[in-house]
Amino acid sequence: MKHILENVKKCPICHSENYSDWRSAIDHNVSGDTFKIVECNECSFRYTNPIPSENTIGEYYKSDNYVSHSSTKKGVINKIYHIIRKHAIKQKEGYAKQYSDGKSILDIGCGTGDFLGYCKSNNWDVLGLEPDEDARILALKNNNVSSKDISELKNLKENSRDVITMWHVLEHVYNLNEDIEEYKRILKPGGHIIVAVPNCSSHDAEYYKHHWAALDLPIHLYHFRPNDIKSLFTKHGMELIKIIPMKFDSYYISMISEKYKGGNIISGFWRGFISNLKAKNKKNTFSSQIYIIKLQKT
Ligand SMILES: [Zn+2]
Repeated sequence: MKHILENVKKCPICHSENYSDWRSAIDHNVSGDTFKIVECNECSFRYTNPIPSENTIGEYYKSDNYVSHSSTKKGVINKIYHIIRKHAIKQKEGYAKQYSDGKSILDIGCGTGDFLGYCKSNNWDVLGLEPDEDARILALKNNNVSSKDISELKNLKENSRDVITMWHVLEHVYNLNEDIEEYKRILKPGGHIIVAVPNCSSHDAEYYKHHWAALDLPIHLYHFRPNDIKSLFTKHGMELIKIIPMKFDSYYISMISEKYKGGNIISGFWRGFISNLKAKNKKNTFSSQIYIIKLQKT
């Protein structure tokens, strides 16, 4: 694939211009090209560098393997993924309810609207943003959820939402700091952002290294660890109040990683189990985690 790659000049968290190479990995989904992750010399944040330009990144999402935005149920891993996702949706709505004073929700990167559809049936006032037009059409058709293009973010009403959710979305956001300011504007005072992202300091991440499926290059622009999330939102005057493990993700990610590595599904399943076991003894090191971030009342 021939695409325009752009250098990221400054660390998205601390704005330092100094970084060192951390890891390189292949894009297994679309291009087969190798991409590089660097580590900031100041704050140690890891981010993909260089990255595809914002208007060409869409090409890297065009894969049948990319299940998050599609409804295909091909293959064993995908089947398992879809069954677990159903349970996960219920759980996610529970967290939104727990950390919300009201019932208005904005889901950023809502995909085909399965989560918002479930929220809607539980009396939430739902709003979705999604860059992919096909996904937006499916959201309406399958879940009766109307969503807008992601570019509408800046046009959303201020102080209008109790909770904003981003399920494995923050690692895809181009203008990270600008967009976080938009989330703050849209949230009601005392509102919450619920963010789920992979954790590149988990056991499965360290075990699989460049084969770790949640590196997902080049569409994952950032490779967060719990402290990075804390620094990022603290910088924007928000508070990280809780971290919740996503215990199914270790299995899913390990099974795909094992496939990249040339191993089998059983080994992947085993590694997922080990990863959860190790994370239990070492707080906040699960494969993927949910972060509850609070906007203080002013
Ligand atoms: Zn930095």
